[in-house]
Amino acid sequence: MKIAMLARNANLYSHKRLKEAAEARGHELDIIDTLRCYMNIASRNPAIYYNGEKLPKYDAVIPRIGASVTFYGLAVLRQFEMMGVYPLNESVAIGRSRDKLRSLQLLARDGIGLPVTTFAHDPKQTTEVLAVTGGSPLVIKLLEGTQGIGVVLVDSDRSAKSVIEAFRGAGVNILVQEFIKEAGGSDIRALVVGGKVVAAMQRTGAKGEFRSNLHQGGTAQAVKISPEERSTAVRAAKSMGLNVCGVDMLRSNHGPVVMEVNSSPGLEGVEKATGIDVAGKIIETLEKTSVPGKTKTKGA
Ligand code: ADP
Ligand code: GLU
Repeated sequence: MKIAMLARNANLYSHKRLKEAAEARGHELDIIDTLRCYMNIASRNPAIYYNGEKLPKYDAVIPRIGASVTFYGLAVLRQFEMMGVYPLNESVAIGRSRDKLRSLQLLARDGIGLPVTTFAHDPKQTTEVLAVTGGSPLVIKLLEGTQGIGVVLVDSDRSAKSVIEAFRGAGVNILVQEFIKEAGGSDIRALVVGGKVVAAMQRTGAKGEFRSNLHQGGTAQAVKISPEERSTAVRAAKSMGLNVCGVDMLRSNHGPVVMEVNSSPGLEGVEKATGIDVAGKIIETLEKTSVPGKTKTKGA
């Protein structure tokens, strides 16, 4: 196959690994800097230009679109889809996963376990929001946060009110969530590839830190997950419509609860913790699913 990978930085571990894995399996993979693509959108023959030339015809595209370039990156990916190039993850599915609130609504609709979560616009409703969520301790999250930034644990209703007011004053959208204390500062990241969990790790926050993000000093190790956790991860991927994703879950008293589904999961932590060739599995699923010229998604 001739594969395009949309990525900004060719030197990231995940991107190098995907290129290596594709080449090891006899494919060609070009890394294309998403923001340097330009497109003629009002044409019957959609095309993408790059470095002054029209891009050649690819069989498949691997989108690795960072959160900060979602808007332009998805437009480029849609253009590939319009050209009939098979996307590892569809633009529409990535768009869903980038909106935390929409994602939680879709997961809830499919009956997937979630932390009790409340969303409201009007700060006058703060008292009711706290009551509906079950009172403190609570986790308050910026809708647009990543890597654990903008995720705050509050111990009392009084501090919850102050934090909600502060976020509102800053004009940002937030979620208020039950604090899953029994998770003990750990979470599970399950890598779902082609409808199966291919690897799973447990991430544990640094001492005194409830957030387990590796970016916040967390550490990762391989973990054996339960059949219920496995099926939760697979169902979450399916309800988002993602072929490849990282599903973050907490082990709660009421079973696994999903916090987030990441459509461009990093491979370094999970490959190093588990020794599993996740990049190889991703290429393998692309070989099985991509039928050149038969892409179902045509940009919507
Ligand atoms: P981000 O998308 O920025 O990573 P998350 O929602 O995944 O934000 O939260 C970051 C970390 O905080 C999670 O990995 C988890 O360890 C912890 N965390 C988040 N929500 C909860 C919660 N409701 N209860 C307990 N811990 C949580
Ligand atoms: N409402 C469905 C969803 O959010 C479909 C909408 C769409 O495909 O954009 O998954």
